[in-house]
Amino acid sequence: MSRLRDPSLLREQCLVDGQWCDADSGHTIDVTNPADDSVLGRVPAMGQAETRRAIAAAEKAWPEWRALTGKERSVLLRAWFDLIMANQEDLALLMTLEQGKPLAESRGEVAYAASFIEWFAEEAKRVYGDVIPQTVRGRRLLVIKQPIGVVAAITPWNFPAAMITRKAGPALAAGCPILIKPASQTPFTALALAALAERAGIPAGIVQVVTGSARAIGGEMTASPAVRKLTFTGSTEVGKVLIAQCAGTVKKVSMELGGNAPFIVFDDADLDEAIKGVMASKFRNMGQTCVCANRILVQDGVYDAFLEKFAAAVSALKVGDGQAEGTTQGPLIDEAAVSKVEQHIADALGQGGRVVVGGSRDERGGTFFSPTIIADVTPAMQVAKEETFGPLAPVFRFGTEEQAIAMANDTEFGLAAYFYTRDVGRVWRVGEALEYGIVGINEGVPSVEVAPFGGVKESGLGREGSKYGIEDYLEIKYLCMGGI
Ligand code: ADP
Repeated sequence: MSRLRDPSLLREQCLVDGQWCDADSGHTIDVTNPADDSVLGRVPAMGQAETRRAIAAAEKAWPEWRALTGKERSVLLRAWFDLIMANQEDLALLMTLEQGKPLAESRGEVAYAASFIEWFAEEAKRVYGDVIPQTVRGRRLLVIKQPIGVVAAITPWNFPAAMITRKAGPALAAGCPILIKPASQTPFTALALAALAERAGIPAGIVQVVTGSARAIGGEMTASPAVRKLTFTGSTEVGKVLIAQCAGTVKKVSMELGGNAPFIVFDDADLDEAIKGVMASKFRNMGQTCVCANRILVQDGVYDAFLEKFAAAVSALKVGDGQAEGTTQGPLIDEAAVSKVEQHIADALGQGGRVVVGGSRDERGGTFFSPTIIADVTPAMQVAKEETFGPLAPVFRFGTEEQAIAMANDTEFGLAAYFYTRDVGRVWRVGEALEYGIVGINEGVPSVEVAPFGGVKESGLGREGSKYGIEDYLEIKYLCMGGI
């Protein structure tokens, strides 16, 4: 931590109502580095009472914030964006230390995270209404869009910055305050972002962060009638609990949940491009993203050739501490993550799967894991049904386009899908047939701030980023004027 250029970005307190504070109980949670299990620092173990105070502060701050013009909010968001980019190195270092991803990826995430603040700074000026042609004389029908109110956000550890800015950007642009509960594994990135928001001049109560018990904080966020919207990124399991908890106060919810992404390689694909795409999609963040390829489906004619090239590319990955030059694979987030990968491998091998590369923990120990390919995987295996969320690439074989589509859609999830082909007819057919919110066609990393991110089926509700992303933070009001 001493290596931070600006040591004041390391915050061990939460930001509530413009004050940096400890938990009422004085209790803290240790934050560790997954690369060596060392303790990096501590954050407050907050709960219901502190969350309630933060919600009250947000309510109090809301009227002034919503009264600003879009352009005035835009200026503040732009200042936040500039500060995030000016502190990219420090934020990246904090992220690698608490999350484990290689520094190059952390720098990339900081830029990606900042892009949402920049984009929504621009969109703050473009919240348009409508004038609807009347059907009855003497009337005028108008639609205006207004901020929904206090927003609560619960975010995961895999993208400690971007999952926050993708929510805070549109909330603030729309005119809403946001209260953030980051994952307990990665609170320092969140607290540093809040410190920069404060420095940018965003008023007290508009961006707040509480760390601590997910159940207590999440419970208060979902029960409070003052919170008008809950936005969550995390597992489908927890998402379902939160949706149920929000029913009591009929809150609007946005949910970015789990995926089970198919990555389809057709016979006519450019294999080298497909390898580039699958490497980025599967092994980015050690396979710990909800859009990571989870099932690699390869057509008969190129199955062996694909496997050979894929094996060479995976063997070239470099496992190590995320801070070390050249590392492409850091540690997994925790022991439970490693156990899940091991369990999926054991299950696949028990049912006829074959290890092509890797297959076990890395010699460094801890939560380092060797990037792994398993071939001859079938739909009966656990890897076919569940998100592995780790560096395991299971390869399936298929015969026809229809088979590939049926296999790809045979899941309750529907976040991201990918396919590689040079046939324009197939591009349209398969692109339309896949039941997913995001489809990468000859492209392994489609996420960008100007395009909508989100899933269908049990992968979620709502969209983040793009011109659609702000709608989730706005209410539509219909004004009917008579007597004209
Ligand atoms: P992951 O598998 O990515 O850790 P989770 O869904 O478990 O996903 O966690 C995502 C976020 O949800 C974290 O901030 C976590 O603390 C929070 N969380 C987990 N369980 C609950 C719960 N019951 N209520 C509210 N938040 C929760």
